[in-house]
Amino acid sequence: MKARCIGSMMALLATSGAVHAQSFLVCLRDVAPTVVQDMRYAGPNNFTGDPVPGYDAAECWLARPAAEALAKVQAEMEKAGKTLIVYDCYRPVRAVRHFLSWARKQGDKRDPAYFPRVDGSKLVEQGYIAARSAHSTGLAVDLTFGDAGAREPADTGGLFDLFDYVSHTNAKVSAEARANRNVLVGAMAKAGFTNYAAEWWHYGFKGSAPQQDVPVKACGAR
Ligand SMILES: [Zn+2]
Repeated sequence: MKARCIGSMMALLATSGAVHAQSFLVCLRDVAPTVVQDMRYAGPNNFTGDPVPGYDAAECWLARPAAEALAKVQAEMEKAGKTLIVYDCYRPVRAVRHFLSWARKQGDKRDPAYFPRVDGSKLVEQGYIAARSAHSTGLAVDLTFGDAGAREPADTGGLFDLFDYVSHTNAKVSAEARANRNVLVGAMAKAGFTNYAAEWWHYGFKGSAPQQDVPVKACGAR
């Protein structure tokens, strides 16, 4: 009898876990519609040069707590005449795996646009490409900011996904770029996000959630 009770409890937990996983992600556009979205992995404008598997739509999905926190950051930015610009949000596990297999094929290649000083073979070792990503939980976001009404990002001393030590948040950059990195770190920290020291654009939100592999869809399609 006891075993059966535990068994049904496990079944209940498994069921509610599945429901939770499906409903946990929200479309950022529904929560913070003014955030500019430049979803790089849905098209060819990224370090792989191709659309990435798992991105069926150029749409930012995040775990609800992260999306709601980002809406607060955006409200603060707008008071200052600025807007957030997101590059990547929830990332399906298959996309993370794709990055890893792509990295394995780079050998000692360098790319003047994305990794001018790091050999392709060192991208994983140096932490630019990882076997697992917090993005797959919907609790991480890659972003910058710019003037409201424009799609141009502020000068942060290097572009998104530049795999180079200048992308380390504390790297030596111009005074303007330093100030802009500090604006982003400060605004995001106030809302519960922590920066990843090797990438000025990457922020994780507090808490934990399961990794997911459902493809990125248009809003309303989930
Ligand atoms: Zn990231």
